[in-house]
Amino acid sequence: MRAPSAPGLEVPQALYVHIPFCQRRCPYCDFAVHVGGVARFHEYVAAVRAELRWLAAGAAPPAPLDSVYLGGGTPSRLPARLIAGILSTARARFGLAPGAEVTLEANPSDVTRRRAAAWATAGVTRVSLGVQSLDDDVLRQLGRSHTAAQALAALRVLRQAAIPGVSCDLLYGIPGRPAGSFQASLAGLIEAEPDHVSCYELTPERGTRLHRQVMDGLVRPPHPVANLAQHWWAVERLEASGYHQYEVSNFARPGQESRHNLQYWRGAGYWAAGSGAHGHLPVAVARRLAGDAPATGVGLGARAVRCWNHRGTARYLRAVAETGSGWAGWEAVDAGQAELERVACGLRLREGVRLRTPAQRRMARQLSRHGLLEVAAGRARTTRRGEELLEAVTLRLLAA
Ligand code: SF4
Repeated sequence: MRAPSAPGLEVPQALYVHIPFCQRRCPYCDFAVHVGGVARFHEYVAAVRAELRWLAAGAAPPAPLDSVYLGGGTPSRLPARLIAGILSTARARFGLAPGAEVTLEANPSDVTRRRAAAWATAGVTRVSLGVQSLDDDVLRQLGRSHTAAQALAALRVLRQAAIPGVSCDLLYGIPGRPAGSFQASLAGLIEAEPDHVSCYELTPERGTRLHRQVMDGLVRPPHPVANLAQHWWAVERLEASGYHQYEVSNFARPGQESRHNLQYWRGAGYWAAGSGAHGHLPVAVARRLAGDAPATGVGLGARAVRCWNHRGTARYLRAVAETGSGWAGWEAVDAGQAELERVACGLRLREGVRLRTPAQRRMARQLSRHGLLEVAAGRARTTRRGEELLEAVTLRLLAA
């Protein structure tokens, strides 16, 4: 693959903070999760705040953040004053741009009037609710601690607390469940009028309880064709209800797209703090942060540096206490890798991807003749058929 020259990254304006704590591990989850951990909340948040100070020192000078995303795990399990503490350090060290998007992932059973008001006061502008389903049998199967009624009540409470954006996640492709269960959940959710909806296919990730159940033949996931039908049903239903599909799995009312996630999909840099978090940084920033460590060996051809933190809470806390940093490792992103990520992520977006070279433009025209891409104004975006063959289309464009 020939990689066209790509500029290096700007100083990031997005920050991801990982809060690993969950009440229990859901059978399908392979995230960096710490079950329980109430006794460590304060210590963990102090470490995250120390890591934010360490990161900001490497920005020299930092650019004000346009988005902060507190993800997990279950960040809503933290007392609101600890969430406020993290945001206050982010604000003091990086600055927040006017109108910055600040997202908090929340479990519906954690949403109370008091907490929602405290989140809004702390500066949270968007809550991403892990609804997953409005079918109580499915929620039990997924090991979730909330009910459908609690999910809808949480949405109402967030509205009353004047949180400007509420997003809800739903899952389809749940083993043993008929298509009607997902469809009824989505219809119920649309009636509740969230600002943003994400519909993800449940995939049995290796190492999870669900994966073992599938391997042992205890449950059977739906056929991929059935899952594809669910996806297109969701697209049509959501678009007919005023949500536009701006990314394969994400739908928003006008102006309610996730600005933070758009930074990822557009290949921008981002800071990351907390156990298991991954960052994407300009080379100069990574070099300043790493000092004499091996990141200084990142070659001249590097476009960016990908860094990742220790995944286990105890190891992460030790690393921050010793060095201020939670980094477990880093690697250079060269021009070829950067281009692969730019095209793969860009083609997931409705806005599509910019075609950089004459060869890419030729290949895109060829793919458009096969009904897989639409090409206009130097950009390519997938058609419905192209979206179904996304991996193949991406590889063809990269091979040009
Ligand atoms: S609540 Fe979310 S992060 Fe926590 S175990 Fe369940 S799926 Fe994983």
